[in-house]
Amino acid sequence: MSISRPLAILVLTLASACAAPPAPPPPRPQPILDPDSACLRDLRDRRVAFEPQAAIGAGGCSIANPVKVSGGASMGWNRPGVVSCAMARTVETFEAQVVAPIAQRVLGQRVVRLVHMGTYDCRNRRTETSVAAAARGEGSRGGRLSEHSRGQAIDIGGFELADGSVVSVKKDWKGAGKRSEFLQQVARASCDHFNVVLTPNHNRLHADHLHLDIGPHRLCGY
Ligand SMILES: [Zn+2]
Repeated sequence: MSISRPLAILVLTLASACAAPPAPPPPRPQPILDPDSACLRDLRDRRVAFEPQAAIGAGGCSIANPVKVSGGASMGWNRPGVVSCAMARTVETFEAQVVAPIAQRVLGQRVVRLVHMGTYDCRNRRTETSVAAAARGEGSRGGRLSEHSRGQAIDIGGFELADGSVVSVKKDWKGAGKRSEFLQQVARASCDHFNVVLTPNHNRLHADHLHLDIGPHRLCGY
């Protein structure tokens, strides 16, 4: 005796419904990936204040080994910032080998705080054209992702000195004083450590900060 075709379909459907896997559990937080433990170890050895973060990966924006940095060995940060471990290492070198000695030499004092305006940020590169288009409400389609979206960039607005004053890129870049000289020397020497260095000399979008990144492009624009 054979079962009818509709009945067979019903039986199969019920069977497969019963065998269906249960609803997937809610996504668990991603574990901290550590593809570059030598880098994390290096940050610890160099006494960088940081916390490893879960891997960031969304769209084109991703960081395999992000860390949240709140300060280097010689100077704090005005607020924590998320960067790749490799970038954290480069910024630490920059603070120790560029900022600190130039501050001593030119200003005769210590930098106690790096004042940054942004680190990781999932966004496209801002150009004068794209910013003007966005201001006209045209959105910012196209364009390539900023190195900020890979945790490979930092925007530095200034440096707080031991006497409590702040050397500001916006206020002090231009001019003939020692503060300007300090910033100019820092920017010039940054090109030995970062692949891209953009300053107020580059365009109006950088009038108030130094953009430093370790992305694949090369531009020393001090
Ligand atoms: Zn930037």
